[in-house]
Amino acid sequence: MNPYLWDDLINGSFVPAKDNVLLVGDSAGMLFPTTHEGIGPALKSGIMAAESVIQVLRGQGKAEGPYLRKIGEIKTVLVELQLMTKKLGDAAKKGADAFLGSMVELFERTINE
Ligand SMILES: Cc1cc2nc3c(=O)[nH]c(=O)nc-3n(C[C@H](O)[C@H](O)[C@H](O)COP(=O)(O)OP(=O)(O)OC[C@H]3O[C@@H](n4cnc5c(N)ncnc54)[C@H](O)[C@@H]3O)c2cc1C
Repeated sequence: MNPYLWDDLINGSFVPAKDNVLLVGDSAGMLFPTTHEGIGPALKSGIMAAESVIQVLRGQGKAEGPYLRKIGEIKTVLVELQLMTKKLGDAAKKGADAFLGSMVELFERTINE
């Protein structure tokens, strides 16, 4: 079962890190909307978590700080994909070609990530 946490992650009501405990991938709500591609963001956030741990091992503080900053990049993509998903309904009202075009755009954006 895939978690649907996009909105909570984007609006900040769900924060996927506390001190040195960092959630990545699906558990952090990073599964992409509509396409449900989650391998890319899972790998990317895993690397970001590892980088954050290394960063604090070399310095001071908790890993949550650098990690939450780094995943801002993934949250930006999620916002973009959410907007594209919301536009699918409008495209569908314009007809099959418009809907197909919007779906292709959404899949291409996901694949590029
Ligand atoms: C049917 C299906 C098809 C999919 N197809 C695609 C696709 O084509 N492309 C794509 O990008 N994404 C796809 N996804 C989504 C993708 O699989 C996930 O987004 C991705 O695997 C998330 O990786 P993760 O490491 O966050 O979580 P997971 O891969 O779920 O790894 C979490 C691991 O933690 C383990 N675990 C859970 N609880 C505990 C516990 N208490 N103690 C110890 N271990 C625990 C689980 O057994 C699991 O091995 C698909 C998902 C499904 C369900």
